[in-house]
Amino acid sequence: MAPLKNATRTVALRIGLTGGIGSGKSTVAQCLVECGAHLVDTDAIARSITQPDGLAMPALAAAFGGVALMPDGSLDRVFMRQQVFADIAVRIQLEAILHPLIGQEAQRLAGQSAGRTVVFDVPLLAESARWRQRVQRVLVIDCDEATQVQRVAQRPGWTETAARAVMAQQATRAMRRGVADAVIYNDHITGVALASQVRVLWALWNNPG
Ligand code: ADP
Repeated sequence: MAPLKNATRTVALRIGLTGGIGSGKSTVAQCLVECGAHLVDTDAIARSITQPDGLAMPALAAAFGGVALMPDGSLDRVFMRQQVFADIAVRIQLEAILHPLIGQEAQRLAGQSAGRTVVFDVPLLAESARWRQRVQRVLVIDCDEATQVQRVAQRPGWTETAARAVMAQQATRAMRRGVADAVIYNDHITGVALASQVRVLWALWNNPG
């Protein structure tokens, strides 16, 4: 693991939390909040900056035109998802606009932690060296792909095919585990057992030595 910047922890510990869709990452994020973490959710930031008058909207409107906007001026997520799946160049262009703004907003929100350990919930952390530099510990939530598909397909509006399409665009399990300081394998365990593993790790990382 990377050394902590400050062993006496006058600077808040920063943990990066990641996992594939349906891995249980959001469930773990809530456990960490219950442990006392200050959670910074990058998905929530992405949603907020693409609302009408959101930070990203002027650049998105300029790049993709009115066709990418909903009548209320927010980003048309369904349209953009279709474009991104159809053309890698669109994905690169979209990410080039969103990622710096998400990073900036995440740092601002982390500044409100009042000294508490910050957990950044970052779906694309394995893909992003920049994000890994911002954190001192990486926690990966892992499970079998069949379990991911099964969990996601239960969500309203989702199908197994849609789940597999998203998974195909995400980092592989091996890639994620390769950047981890700790991995929680969230398969064939109860929610209670999962929470218990999270609490053990929280204690270990917040009370080193
Ligand atoms: P992610 O944020 O990684 O997409 P979630 O945390 O939303 O995943 O979990 C996906 C679904 O699986 C949720 O309905 C959640 O309640 C359920 N889930 C997560 N972990 C477990 C578990 N250990 N046992 C049973 N259900 C689980």
